[in-house]
Amino acid sequence: MSDSRDIAERQMRFLFALRSKGVTDQQVLAAMEKIDRGLFVRGLFAERAYEDMPLPIACGQTISQPSVVGLMTQALAVSPRDKVLEVGTGSGYQAAILSQLARRVYTVDRHRRLVQEASALFASLDINNIIAMTSDGSFGLPDQAPFDRIIVTAAAEDPPGPLLAQLKIGGIMVVPVGRSDTVQSLIKVTRDENGFDYDELRPVRFVPLLEGLGKDT
Ligand code: SAH
Repeated sequence: MSDSRDIAERQMRFLFALRSKGVTDQQVLAAMEKIDRGLFVRGLFAERAYEDMPLPIACGQTISQPSVVGLMTQALAVSPRDKVLEVGTGSGYQAAILSQLARRVYTVDRHRRLVQEASALFASLDINNIIAMTSDGSFGLPDQAPFDRIIVTAAAEDPPGPLLAQLKIGGIMVVPVGRSDTVQSLIKVTRDENGFDYDELRPVRFVPLLEGLGKDT
């Protein structure tokens, strides 16, 4: 059992690792300090939850590396009035961070089981501004569009057209793009009156964005 001093030290190391990888936005750091990643990792890997590495979750998926969550959240520049769409709920960790910064977060995953487990966690944390749904996120959520911010946490070959169409003018989308299974490029898309601007941020590694709903395991 860890006592409160161990927890404080673990927390300090977690935040230090984030800062040293370039997560400097105070609000992002505060959100990541508040949301305990340990709750989103189960079983065998739970004790590694505070290390800066991706870890396996149910349905053969992964919870992203904390520094990547931090850098993507930072790049998204979320403000308190924003309506955000996340494609790839996974463990729910990224959505929980976003819920601290945005007005409302819609998050979708193709695996029903992941959506159910994440929803239960949101409820237990008393987070009430996340709406989690099972669907193929490559089509976005036309009924809720447009969005101020869109974050895709699975790798696409190109930024999906329906997601670009559902981004507000003035909006930002962050998406890992690439054909390779091993390394992709994190792209920040900004939309203005004249169209879309693409900025390449850094190499990342994500599971692929797949079509249709998943067979739950
Ligand atoms: N953001 C998550 C990590 C996501 S891992 C977290 O914080 O834990 C990527 C997720 O994208 C997986 O759960 C996978 O099921 C989901 N995914 C892949 N293709 C998808 C699609 N077309 N629509 C919705 N979700 C998808």
